[in-house]
Amino acid sequence: MLTPLDLLTANDTPGQHPPSYYAATARWQTAYPPLDGSSQADVVVVGGGYTGLSAALHLAESGLNVVLLEANRVGWGASGRNGGQVGSGQRVEQDVLEERHGKSHAKLLWELAEDSKALVKHLIEKHQIACDYTPGILHADHREAYVEDSRDYVEHLRLTYGYDQIRFVDGDEIGDLVGSPKYFGGSLDMGSGHLHPLNYALGLARAAEKAGAKIFEETKVTEIAENGDGTVTVSTDRGNVRARHLALACNGYLGKLEAETAAHVMPINNFIVATEPFSEEDAKALIRDNVAVADSKFVINYFRLSADRRLLFGGGENYGYRFPDDIKSFVRRPMLEIFPQLKDAKIDYGWGGTLAITPKRMPYFARLKPNILTATGYSGHGVAMATLGGQLMAEAITGTAGRFDVFERLNIPAFPGGDKLRFPLLVLAMTWFSLRDRLGI
Ligand SMILES: Cc1cc2nc3c(=O)[nH]c(=O)nc-3n(C[C@H](O)[C@H](O)[C@H](O)COP(=O)(O)OP(=O)(O)OC[C@H]3O[C@@H](n4cnc5c(N)ncnc54)[C@H](O)[C@@H]3O)c2cc1C
Repeated sequence: MLTPLDLLTANDTPGQHPPSYYAATARWQTAYPPLDGSSQADVVVVGGGYTGLSAALHLAESGLNVVLLEANRVGWGASGRNGGQVGSGQRVEQDVLEERHGKSHAKLLWELAEDSKALVKHLIEKHQIACDYTPGILHADHREAYVEDSRDYVEHLRLTYGYDQIRFVDGDEIGDLVGSPKYFGGSLDMGSGHLHPLNYALGLARAAEKAGAKIFEETKVTEIAENGDGTVTVSTDRGNVRARHLALACNGYLGKLEAETAAHVMPINNFIVATEPFSEEDAKALIRDNVAVADSKFVINYFRLSADRRLLFGGGENYGYRFPDDIKSFVRRPMLEIFPQLKDAKIDYGWGGTLAITPKRMPYFARLKPNILTATGYSGHGVAMATLGGQLMAEAITGTAGRFDVFERLNIPAFPGGDKLRFPLLVLAMTWFSLRDRLGI
């Protein structure tokens, strides 16, 4: 049986960003102090990724006294390591959501997803966050049989949701847009985009601090205790914070800190490499228009060009808790399947990160207690959605819970099998689906 490791330390050096391209091109390093001693706040936020930073920013802007505690560094988790794709919609497509939850609930979820993209763009502009936001995501079908579905889905979004920023891409055009023989068609969504994820997180932290939030790094919360008077105390090795509200924002790194949240999410690792920089011409031969690309494989390949024209390629999940020893070789394999012409390209960086999925691949937002909220489980679709998640926690805490409730009403189930069985069951399912990818069935 696999024993869950502490993912805050299992694959990384505590207190240091992983050796990623993003860390190497971070606009600045944060140096917030660790928490030392006892303090009080209106709200204590645990976790310094997009969820926690956005919660802290919005809470501080509404005049509350906010303390954010981050075990490592701001943006150290998935928020500083991801593919940077700011996608439309939810992780689950709208037609599936309509079936699951009915048309009107699905419409609210679509609108919230639109809000999430708008929020990212608004925050970047308002707080002058230099994170290379660039429009466009191309969804690329790796099977011919999927192409008609793409055409239908584009039409569905247009007719049902009035979304006109996405268009169908046929087999000829996709060959012009991406220099790979592997794709048969897809869709191009210019209402979505991509960005430098760590610089975005660092910018959110700076904005939250300016708004008055107190941020502490290298401050791991080890215990949450409810006090009899309706307040909550979170403890760390060197101190504690007593607050009226707690916002939990630990996502894939939560571990056993809070049992109810832990039962609803499963940590999964995902990996990215960055090649050497290419000439303008060579970069255009890979991705003509500098859009991000996500393909239709179950274990998704996703890639884009960096501002200095490297290929950032994400692919390959593993279903143990440890990262592979050689991440560069691990991801090089799927990269060469898509771009065989890169066989001699040098890979300068390779890194991994942990995200959280839920059984239904929709986020888990919940009021665990009237004054304890959690937002997590974005299932690989969290750049925009986690930013929104933080804002919605802030809204719920300040008394406007309408948008938070749209997610809470999804009633995300816990993983079957509890702590002991959920992982082996997931490994089985995932192995089967990625085998299907490989066998082409
Ligand atoms: C490799 C990879 C690629 C991805 N690509 C994309 C993409 O292209 N597009 C997209 O939309 N999404 C993508 N995602 C998902 C996206 O990054 C996440 O959904 C999002 O960053 C979640 O943000 P978060 O703030 O909830 O969690 P995180 O950014 O993981 O932050 C959680 C933080 O909580 C802290 N923490 C945990 N426990 C404690 C504790 N006890 N005390 C104090 N602090 C604690 C951690 O140190 C961490 O910094 C990807 C994820 C990965 C890993």
